[in-house]
Amino acid sequence: MNYNSTRDKTKVVTAAQAIAQGISDEGGLFVPQSLPQYSLEDIKSFCAMDYKGRAKKIMGDFLGDFTAEEISESVDAAYDAEKFEGDNPSPISYVYIGSTEAAVLELWHGPTCAFKDMALQILPHLLTKSVKKTCADKQAVILVATSGDTGKAALEGFCDVDGTKIMVFYPVDGVSPMQKRQMATQKGENVSVVAIKGNFDDAQTGVKKIFTNADIKSTLAENNMIFSSANSINWGRLLPQIVYYFSAYCEMVNAGRIVPGDKINVAVPTGNFGNILASFYAMNMGLPVNKFICASNANNVLTDFIATGTYDKKRDFHTTISPSMDILVSSNLERLLYHLTGGDDAKVAMWMKELSENGCYTVDDATKKALTDLFVGGCCDDKQTQKTIGEIYAKENYLCDTHTAVAFDVYEQYVRNTGDKTPTVIASTASPYKFSRAVLSSLTEETLPEDEFATVQALSDKTNTPVPAPLKALKEAKERFSLQCEVDEMPQVVLSGLGIN
Ligand SMILES: *Cc1c(COP(=O)(O)O)cnc(C)c1O
Repeated sequence: MNYNSTRDKTKVVTAAQAIAQGISDEGGLFVPQSLPQYSLEDIKSFCAMDYKGRAKKIMGDFLGDFTAEEISESVDAAYDAEKFEGDNPSPISYVYIGSTEAAVLELWHGPTCAFKDMALQILPHLLTKSVKKTCADKQAVILVATSGDTGKAALEGFCDVDGTKIMVFYPVDGVSPMQKRQMATQKGENVSVVAIKGNFDDAQTGVKKIFTNADIKSTLAENNMIFSSANSINWGRLLPQIVYYFSAYCEMVNAGRIVPGDKINVAVPTGNFGNILASFYAMNMGLPVNKFICASNANNVLTDFIATGTYDKKRDFHTTISPSMDILVSSNLERLLYHLTGGDDAKVAMWMKELSENGCYTVDDATKKALTDLFVGGCCDDKQTQKTIGEIYAKENYLCDTHTAVAFDVYEQYVRNTGDKTPTVIASTASPYKFSRAVLSSLTEETLPEDEFATVQALSDKTNTPVPAPLKALKEAKERFSLQCEVDEMPQVVLSGLGIN
């Protein structure tokens, strides 16, 4: 199976090339030329497998230039029971959200307590193998722009992986104290972390510019290095996420909640549009899906896009209590547009050019219709997010994080508006302990402790739930990284960080 660029179909690469390169030269994203198709019988056969079995089958069908051993090795190393608190890395809790019981797919049982681990524990294995296949002995330099969770998950995934270096840029005031601490204390000889004086979009744009800067690329080449990306623009990030939607469906079948063939809805707290896009791929491979519910926080550019067909990033940027969704340019939407237009690379390239030059674009009617046939948008502000956390805890004794709460609320709005009773999978994307302050203050009027770890303990005491071990351990960890830079200094910081300026 080969891959195209969304902005230029004549660019055709293998899976390994797509993963090693991360992004196409002209700025497009790599998308599969075709998708594996699974019948109901296939899906039934997945139901008899464990998570690793499902992952090996599904990912294997996409990774044409990998051997079965390579895939098997990667999956086994990534979804190790010890790293993910058991054999199923994405367990389901059934929770009443308003008047309907939803399947809450907990994607945060990995080493950094956010759903990014589902992809970033396996990406380093796929990436190092891809680089070996396509560029021999070159060193892969991973640049990451993060709104918080990707950075830590990527650092953890790539920590001391031979043949790689990783640099993470995060917005100085745009991540939670726990996220900052997770990154600043990261171990490993091949890692570095830099705070930029700007927001997430500045960080993401800065990284994209470095990736596509011909001078910097040739400097790297002279030093036997190549850039790659661990952001969700990398196909190797999206692919592992397709697996857990099939897996969730199988778990629901096995639990007797649905029978094979029943449709489900999927609700996802959305930022860069990677997670929800993975469920769209799953549907196009045969997973029975009715609607995709795209939940946003106060940065509701996607809600407006789904409602109007106009994507307009010219608006205030809000720093919210769900920082991993504080995004105005959702990169993976480009892939969705490519597929909804039937692979119209010229159209996609034009819209993306308009976005970068004018800050907005409007899709044509056919694309708008294809979008709204499947996608429903909705949003929720911080106040409503906190109210939702408090209500779900009071009624259901279920503690959720701020991002998941946004999806809960938007799902509830959707059911209220439509009466749709289709069984729904809601992606739960982070442990509540990553956002302890906002979560605890949703549960109590009392003054919270100043100290982050005292807050974590207070949340645990109040709810009788355990603090995840990796977060507990941070209390004693030593801070290693404190560098800050301006956005336009990023290229220089990269080169000097690599010792090649
Ligand atoms: C990254 C992240 C999101 C957004 O996911 P996308 O794939 O970027 O849409 C939502 N919640 C949490 C906790 C995250 O870390």
